[in-house]
Amino acid sequence: MNRLIAVSSSEDIFPEYQNTPVGLLLEYHNLNRSLDSYTKAQLLIGMCMDNRKHLRIPDNFAFIIRAGGANLRYSEFKVSYAIAIGEVKSIVLIGHTQCGMVNLVARRDQFIQGLVDQAGWSQDLAEEHFIHFAPLFEIGNEVDFVLSEAKRLRLRYPKIQVAPLLYQVEDNLLYLLKES
Ligand SMILES: [Zn+2]
Repeated sequence: MNRLIAVSSSEDIFPEYQNTPVGLLLEYHNLNRSLDSYTKAQLLIGMCMDNRKHLRIPDNFAFIIRAGGANLRYSEFKVSYAIAIGEVKSIVLIGHTQCGMVNLVARRDQFIQGLVDQAGWSQDLAEEHFIHFAPLFEIGNEVDFVLSEAKRLRLRYPKIQVAPLLYQVEDNLLYLLKES
């Protein structure tokens, strides 16, 4: 069940990611590689909106789309833009532990009550909102989701390298994922 692969030296990086922006990201964030200077984005990073995560990367290194659960299904035009206009050739999808987009149904009442209390919504509208959108944003399991999302993106953008990673909020490090 443990599909996480720690990256504590550059040899730990999968061969297919060596000498690519994906490998560089892992070196900057996990291995403290000194930050190079860039004038152009090298990759697109898709990561959760969660506030507990911060990447150590150089300026100009990456486009970043932050969306709940690192779910890019509803950000396709932005992904296409990064590829077509930004000319990035790699996408890194970063799921994370303790993601709030897992088991949304458990937070149903809190979500609805929060909208009523904090935003001034009516109970009915808040309920309808949750019922309509929660299934679209539920990711099930962080690792499974990011692996399936990577597969989807590889089919959608066949010439683009797509790498699924996991950010462990407990140690703030990125992990490679075993794909099978
Ligand atoms: Zn999250």
